[in-house]
Amino acid sequence: LLIVFEGGDGAGKSTQASLLAERLTAAGRTVVRTREPGGTPIGERLRALVLDHGHGPVDARTEALMFAASRAAHVEQLILPALDAGSVVVCDRYIDSSVAYQGVGRGLGTDDVLRVNRWATGGLLPHLTVLLDVDPAAGRLRRTAGQAPEDRLESEPDDFHARIRGAFLDLAAADPARYLVLDAAAPVDELAAAVAARVDAL
Ligand code: C5P
Repeated sequence: LLIVFEGGDGAGKSTQASLLAERLTAAGRTVVRTREPGGTPIGERLRALVLDHGHGPVDARTEALMFAASRAAHVEQLILPALDAGSVVVCDRYIDSSVAYQGVGRGLGTDDVLRVNRWATGGLLPHLTVLLDVDPAAGRLRRTAGQAPEDRLESEPDDFHARIRGAFLDLAAADPARYLVLDAAAPVDELAAAVAARVDAL
């Protein structure tokens, strides 16, 4: 099973992904907990490059291709081998983040970003995507509370994050059977219980 957590910055994705991974491990599953951008040595280097301020601004297409390259390595080197071995893969972010941030946020268009990423991943889709829907103002508070100090997009205005939010919700609405949409403002244990119930059903 491939289970992905998506949502805006400050939604609490890594907290929920870790809680799910702990719960599945306690139930005797082999779990691979990973994240994007990153997840492999080359992916972590691409992450550092794309999040680094030092080399000046990155244009939208370059950014989209770097995320897609990181994802291609991630699928090939880590996710597919883990799935083949029978592990459950729990991942922070996947294709939807690229559609939301680069497709909608940076205006590249959802179709092109989807096409590049389908090619990059060989068409691998999550069995379940948990969307933690976060209000941009609430997300900003959590980000500035220090959860993501490296976060390059921290300084983007709330309306950028509002468009990202809308893009995630549109993706979920287009394929409801593959999504669990939760209000990220709910208490952590309530969210974890909702995720657990849905994953158990899988
Ligand atoms: O979620 P995480 O903190 O790992 O994301 C790192 C940064 O990369 C965040 O600022 C996020 O908004 C950004 N990002 C992006 N496009 C993606 C994935 C992440 O701009 N496709």
